[in-house]
Amino acid sequence: MSKTALITGASQGIGAAIAVRLARAGFHIAVNCYNQQLADTDGAAVAEQCRAFGVEAKCYVADVSKFDQCQEMVKAVAADFGSLDVLVNNAGITRDGLLPRMSEEQFDAVIAVNLKSVFNMMHHASGVMIRQKSGRIINVSSVSGLYGNAGQANYAASKAGVVGLTKTAAKELGGRNITVNAVAPGFIRTQMTDALPDKVKDVMLGQISLKRFGEPEDVANAVAFLASDDAAYISGQVLEIDGCIAM
Ligand code: NAP
Repeated sequence: MSKTALITGASQGIGAAIAVRLARAGFHIAVNCYNQQLADTDGAAVAEQCRAFGVEAKCYVADVSKFDQCQEMVKAVAADFGSLDVLVNNAGITRDGLLPRMSEEQFDAVIAVNLKSVFNMMHHASGVMIRQKSGRIINVSSVSGLYGNAGQANYAASKAGVVGLTKTAAKELGGRNITVNAVAPGFIRTQMTDALPDKVKDVMLGQISLKRFGEPEDVANAVAFLASDDAAYISGQVLEIDGCIAM
């Protein structure tokens, strides 16, 4: 296979797992990292893991909340690999706090990284995919965006926005043979959730029917399915990967 997948925020956590899983499926991998230091350390390690599957892998530095940086990255990936077949918008941050105490900066930062980035990347990547007459876009939302979550007004709004963007892009791009779907993870064990107090983790665990937290690989497997030929007729969908959570 000579198809290429670009994964944003792939230096660690779910993004890194998706990169390695798609490499295992035979995709060449573009590993997006937020800064050069990460690209030289964690990102380089992820790219090395990908190459173990016999594919090409390279790191690209870009802050995906910045429109111009996304444009440069998409151009570079398409030039280096010859195509951009799969885009996974995974980069995300949290800046939690209860609504009355949440600052404007907390709100704006999360919207910029979690939502604006998805517009930035889809805007630029869809141009390449339209010219190719094919493409797959998979956006990482969250169950917080579907059901809301106390203390995460900014995050839930950003992830709900990702769902709206996904469904709209699916309608606009379907005629160009481009599918657009979202995954909505529940509680997945990464640096993002490690930081939560044990009390909060216990409450979350009590709400999960499968009685375990998810692993980054659980999300990566679903993304690999949506990127595969088996998912060719699936678009505009949001797949919850949450062990059956009751929020
Ligand atoms: P993580 O371990 O914190 O990884 C997030 C990645 O995004 C990191 O590589 C981070 O780089 C990168 N990133 C942050 N800001 C960026 C920017 N402006 N430009 C480019 N990259 C940037 O988090 P995770 O748990 O793997 O989360 C991955 C995605 O899944 C996020 O969208 C998150 O909202 C979503 N999600 C996670 C969970 C969960 O339970 N973990 C649940 C639902 C949804 P740095 O290393 O510099 O921070």
